[in-house]
Amino acid sequence: MNPLDWIDQELADLESQGLRRRMRNVVGPQRALLRVDGIEAINFSSNSYLGLSDHPELAEAARAVLTEEGAGAGASRLIAGNQLAHRQLETAIARFKSTPAALFFNSGYQANVGTLQALLGPEDAVFSDTLNHASIIDGCRLARAQVHVYRHADATHLAELLSKAPPARRRLIVTESLFSMDGDRAPLTELAKLARSHGAMLMVDEAHATGVLGPDGRGLAAAAGIVPDIQMGTLGKAMGAAGAYIAGSTSLIEFLFNKARSFVFTTAPPAAMAATAHRALDLATGPLGRERRAQLMLHVKHFHEGLRNLDVPTPSDPSHIIPLLVGETRRAMLLSERLLRAGIFAHGIRPPTVPEGTSRIRFSLMATHTTSQLERALSALADLKVLFRPLPAPPSTTP
Ligand SMILES: *Cc1c(COP(=O)(O)O)cnc(C)c1O
Repeated sequence: MNPLDWIDQELADLESQGLRRRMRNVVGPQRALLRVDGIEAINFSSNSYLGLSDHPELAEAARAVLTEEGAGAGASRLIAGNQLAHRQLETAIARFKSTPAALFFNSGYQANVGTLQALLGPEDAVFSDTLNHASIIDGCRLARAQVHVYRHADATHLAELLSKAPPARRRLIVTESLFSMDGDRAPLTELAKLARSHGAMLMVDEAHATGVLGPDGRGLAAAAGIVPDIQMGTLGKAMGAAGAYIAGSTSLIEFLFNKARSFVFTTAPPAAMAATAHRALDLATGPLGRERRAQLMLHVKHFHEGLRNLDVPTPSDPSHIIPLLVGETRRAMLLSERLLRAGIFAHGIRPPTVPEGTSRIRFSLMATHTTSQLERALSALADLKVLFRPLPAPPSTTP
């Protein structure tokens, strides 16, 4: 008897619930057109919204720094030293975010987990949107803080919880700005007001807004004219590189490189990765970025119009993340499979990524899609309409 036999049982359980995940094999860069498990398909599964990940300048930036600073960082930056590429990237991020300082993390997951764990302890209270990303949830858990979950994007409910919650040493409100699986927005202005009036810190995760939304892609906080105390953004999504940052005051950043365990106890990202992200940031804030954002917004408008023509309700404030709600997990996965066979790579999203009963297909639009590629996706959806709409009532028997 193998002591790991239980794993096969658990995998079988996942299978029977339609929750067993698998990785599809792709070859080549994340472009609008991709080979997925050998099938040529239009890519609606990548968060490389500006289509920067295969930009030749990113590879060039990486190659130059590989030559100058080598491949691996050797240890954490606190131990092996603070490389030039990392320092330069952080200066550029601080300028981009108009904050005094910034800290580069290996990933957004690590940025969120490490920051929340550093800022909060068991004596503290955190107020978290119910749809916040797993990395935020895990950070709250790791901090062992008292967690108050408010209804999605509901500032009124948050106000209630803030008033009712028992006293705590420190309080922190945490939200995504553009929500990753719904493509809708947090009421940042209201959240900032509540944070101020209740003496709470405000942390905003701009993973899916960075590079895309707000002035020069600076995010939704900048668009709303507010400055959250703790601002997180990723460099692996619209920026097309990898890693993430926290931007804020110099004392916040110094505190984090002292206390965030996901920064302290991990080998620093390779210098080439910092250089890639730095070049991506330059591209995204320059003329190319402006052009690509404008193109992406046209695609957003076009795709939502197409969905409305298929009787899919679309939000008043649409974004480049487009959930097509299906509900039942198996049906969502079947739709995703059928779409792939029609040459459309759009992932089925199911629990625990989204709440039970809200399985969906998530379309991520890229600036580098063509209009005819969007049309192909819409026409594939029209053919598969039966899978995401309630079945029509049976024909009436009376004439
Ligand atoms: C993707 C994502 C993260 C994690 O970022 P990575 O760099 O991919 O680890 C964190 N928060 C949100 C909202 C995300 O969507």
